[in-house]
Amino acid sequence: LNSVSDSLYPELLPRYVLEKKVGEGAFSEVYKAFDNIKKQNVAIKIIDKTNMTIQQINAILKEIAIMSKLKHPNIVQLYNYKNSTDSKYCFLFMEFVEGGEIFNQIIKYTYFSEDLSRHVIVQVANALRYLHEEIGVVHRDIKPENLLFVPIPFKPRTKEEQLKARRQSDDDTKIDEGIFIEGVGGATIGTIKVADFGLSKVLWNSNTRTPVGTQGYTAPEILRDESYSKSVDCFSLGCVLYTLLCGFPPFYDTDPKVLAEKVSKSEYCFLSPWWSEISKEANDLVSNLLTADANKRFTIDELLQHPWVLKNENFTKPAL
Ligand code: ADP
Ligand code: MG
Repeated sequence: LNSVSDSLYPELLPRYVLEKKVGEGAFSEVYKAFDNIKKQNVAIKIIDKTNMTIQQINAILKEIAIMSKLKHPNIVQLYNYKNSTDSKYCFLFMEFVEGGEIFNQIIKYTYFSEDLSRHVIVQVANALRYLHEEIGVVHRDIKPENLLFVPIPFKPRTKEEQLKARRQSDDDTKIDEGIFIEGVGGATIGTIKVADFGLSKVLWNSNTRTPVGTQGYTAPEILRDESYSKSVDCFSLGCVLYTLLCGFPPFYDTDPKVLAEKVSKSEYCFLSPWWSEISKEANDLVSNLLTADANKRFTIDELLQHPWVLKNENFTKPAL
C-alpha cells in the first residue's frame, strides 16, 4: 500500500503512508494518507513548485497563511505544512474529509431535496460568516467541488420503511442524525467542510477588525472592496443552492465569453419542469442571492434569516 510514498515522496515516510489520490489540480495532488503518529487519516495536498512563477508561489504562501488562522467546524482544518528537503514540493497536512465532494453527490443523486439542500447551505453560510466577520477573509471559490462532507453512518431501511416514509412526506425523508438521500444504497450527509483557500483573499486584520493597510490612509475603494468581496461569496452560494435544488447550474454556456456575459447580467431562469415542484421560498432565496447588483444582493445574515432557512421543522423532527 505504501508504494505511492515509496516511489514519489519517500520523505513522508515513515510517519505518513499515502493510500490513494483523491484530487488533482494543475500544480497539486491531494492524497488520502495515514498518520502513524496520530493514528488517524490525513489529507495531504502536495504542491509541485518546480514550474511555478513567483506569483504562484506567493499564492501558495497566502493559502497557507490564511488556512493557518482558521478553526471552524465547517472548514477543513490545516494541521501542518512543510517543504520537501529539495524545496520542490510543499506539503499541506489537513483533516481528511471522508465523503469527498458534494459535487459527486449531485452527480450521483441528480439533485437534493429542499431539506438536504438547506442542511448543506446553512453550514456553508456559517463557515462564510466566520470567514467574513471573524477572520476578514473572502473565499472567492465557493462551488460544489470545494464543499466536502463527512458521511453519517446509517442503517439501510427496508422497502416497507421507505414506502411508509414516502407516504408521510412528499419530500425525501429524514432521520434524527442527519438527512437521507434516497438512492441505491442511500447516503447521508453530515458536516460540510469548506475546502480550497487557493483563491481566498484577506480583507481584514482579524485582531484589530480593520481593513488591511494603514488606518486613516486607506482608500475608499478598499473599504468598499470589503463588502463587495463578501458579496462575491454570496453570489456563489446562490449558484450552489440553485444547483443543489435542480441538479444543474444557473449559468452555462460552452463559449466562455457568452457565459461571462450571462453571469454579469445574472441571466438565468427557473427552468420547468425541474423547478416546478420547488417551493416559492427556495425560489425567492435563490433570486436574492443571484441578484446582479452586489448592493442589493442578500448578505449571509439575510440568508440565515430567510423563511426558507428558518423553515426547518422537518429537520429536527424524525419522519419515522
Ligand atoms: P485545487 O486547488 O486543485 O482545486 P483543492 O484544495 O480544492 O485543490 O483539492 C482538490 C480536491 O481534492 C478537492 O476538490 C477534493 O476532492 C480533494 N480534497 C482536498 N482536500 C481534501 C480533504 N481535506 N479531505 C478529502 N478530500 C480533499
Ligand atoms: Mg478546488
